[in-house]
Amino acid sequence: MKFGRISVMAVAATAALGLAACGGGTSGGSGGGSGSVKVGIKFDQPGLGLKAGADYTGMDVDLAKYIAKELGYAGTEFVEAVSAQRETLISTDQVKYIVGTYSITDARKEKVSFAGPYFIAGQDLLVRADDTTITGVDSLAGKKLCSVKGSTSATNVQKKVPGVNLQEYNTYTLCVDALKAGNVDALTTDDTILAGYAAQEANKGKLKVVGKTFSTENYGVGLKKGDVEFCKKVTDAITKYISSGEWQKAVDKNLGPAGYKPGAGNPPTPAACS
Ligand code: GLU
Repeated sequence: MKFGRISVMAVAATAALGLAACGGGTSGGSGGGSGSVKVGIKFDQPGLGLKAGADYTGMDVDLAKYIAKELGYAGTEFVEAVSAQRETLISTDQVKYIVGTYSITDARKEKVSFAGPYFIAGQDLLVRADDTTITGVDSLAGKKLCSVKGSTSATNVQKKVPGVNLQEYNTYTLCVDALKAGNVDALTTDDTILAGYAAQEANKGKLKVVGKTFSTENYGVGLKKGDVEFCKKVTDAITKYISSGEWQKAVDKNLGPAGYKPGAGNPPTPAACS
């Protein structure tokens, strides 16, 4: 006796349900899948990746969720990905992908692969509101600067201003605290991140963004090195995110309140995976 079409489909559906119940799809394999997916994001960057209790908000959070949905995952489990830990989190399978103000660079491509870019930012400076002495990267001589370990911000500024007095912390919020306390004179990282801090209720009137960018930061979605199949799926999701208007909506909703306007080249066209 042959199986009818209906009964074959019923068996397939049951198998799929069984997989979902086991939480399959969180690791291994290249495709999307059932179950929830572990995604690395920032926890302390307002407008980008911010954790408040059980709530996660920001442009990167919205894209992370969109990608998970497009790839067929049932949900997202967010893991904090501080700058210096990102490559390790990916290569040791602690997360499937990272959406965390993660600039695509050749050095990082030695360890991970990227889908994107999905956004272009630029490095800038955050100073105390009453500071008139720091007007750009050229006025940092003799100043104490803060940035974060493992970030392009730290490496860029050291190249631009050799011998700069740079303190490297683990997170940007630690730099914000040091800036407000007068322990450093400026914080340098992407303008997106700085705009978020300057607009925070606790910092209003206390901090200002200088407004002279001195780098190009192409944000990508970090994933397992060489997983071209997965990279292509994420790239398709990003492309659809942009063409459907969701990208613009997310930018307006998350960066708008801080008065941030995306610069030239936005939204970018994601590159081919290799
Ligand atoms: N986009 C830069 C980077 O990937 C700075 C922001 C960050 O540390 O997340 O290093």
